[in-house]
Amino acid sequence: MSFATLGLSPALLHAVRTAGYHAPTPIQAQAIPAILEGRDVLGLAQTGSGKTAAYALPLLQALQQRAAPAGPGSPALLVLVPTRELALQVAETLRELAQALPQRLRIALAFGGVSINPQLMALRGGSDVLVATPGRLLDLIEHNGLHLRGLRTLVLDEADRLLATGFEEEWQRIQALMHGARQTLLFSATLPDKLKALAQGLLNEPLEIHE
Ligand code: AMP
Repeated sequence: MSFATLGLSPALLHAVRTAGYHAPTPIQAQAIPAILEGRDVLGLAQTGSGKTAAYALPLLQALQQRAAPAGPGSPALLVLVPTRELALQVAETLRELAQALPQRLRIALAFGGVSINPQLMALRGGSDVLVATPGRLLDLIEHNGLHLRGLRTLVLDEADRLLATGFEEEWQRIQALMHGARQTLLFSATLPDKLKALAQGLLNEPLEIHE
């Protein structure tokens, strides 16, 4: 199996080589073509499986192909993560892979425990992609730093850990702020009943991938 058969653009194939990835991991081989087709995905995968690149590569490609850029404060792609550490890691992978793209994408980060002002300024300047923890995301929306009406794709990463952080109430509020049709991807190491119920309500005929 080679990355060249998955439908990725030459720029992203270059990014993959630069990152030192020689062959796709099993989750990448299954997820990348499905995500490029616009399908929803339920991916059961551990850290270390290559799950970040499995969604980052096809979603970066989709962002490049979009006609109009997102307006200020209106990201097209939101990645929700449970912790600041994961937010930093995911943003780093996205930035590394996006470097080879002809059109520059603005990748913003939002997590709690630090001053909100730099994050507000960055978002007001415009962003295509936002990687965020749920509590700070809601704070930024309340401060008029962004809205979610232009959102095209939502990723819930490490969704079981998100649920363990009291996510349900935050999720109700976040969901109410999103509009229209959306591609949704959910990745989790485990699938407890509560998460299964959330996934059933959220995902539309998802491709289920078991690592
Ligand atoms: P993740 O599961 O997304 O946390 O990724 C785990 C690690 O695997 C990261 O350090 C990636 O840089 C690396 N990685 C992701 N995809 C590949 C690949 N196809 N080949 C080699 N390394 C990879």
